[in-house]
Amino acid sequence: MRCPYCDQDEDRVVDSRPSEGGAAVRRRRQCLACAHRFSTYERVEQEALAVRKRGGEIEPFHRSKLLTGMGKATANLAVSADDLRRAAARIESRLRALGRREVSSERVGAEVLHALRELDPVAYVRFASVYKGFTSPEDFRRELATLEKEAPPKRQPSSPTAP
Ligand SMILES: [Zn+2]
Repeated sequence: MRCPYCDQDEDRVVDSRPSEGGAAVRRRRQCLACAHRFSTYERVEQEALAVRKRGGEIEPFHRSKLLTGMGKATANLAVSADDLRRAAARIESRLRALGRREVSSERVGAEVLHALRELDPVAYVRFASVYKGFTSPEDFRRELATLEKEAPPKRQPSSPTAP
């Protein structure tokens, strides 16, 4: 790595540790010529994926945004951070498997709904209420009726508020 201070191309790694929640490795390097220290980051190379929003604007896909939305939907429920991270990783790989550089926000939302349904029915309804723009109790009743008609979710997390 070329030193940003003296432009020489010889250094040694003095420290190496995970960064960005394990998505990157940060290496602290010391230039052998001038002894200045600098950092480099190593990440998996990925094609850029963009999300087209309902209004037409396009923004880069970020798994962290997915996690924020899913975190809100599962707040106070028996869904672990690991479950959420795994679900978000699955969603991202399903979106990437479409082989497009751009996906619609509707598609992303549908994948999130699918994942939340398997994690926790309450999280599913919470997310659906925002995603589908529920405006009345009737909207909730209709969604719950659909949920009950279809196959039950894979596991029923224990609820601390159950009677
Ligand atoms: Zn140097």
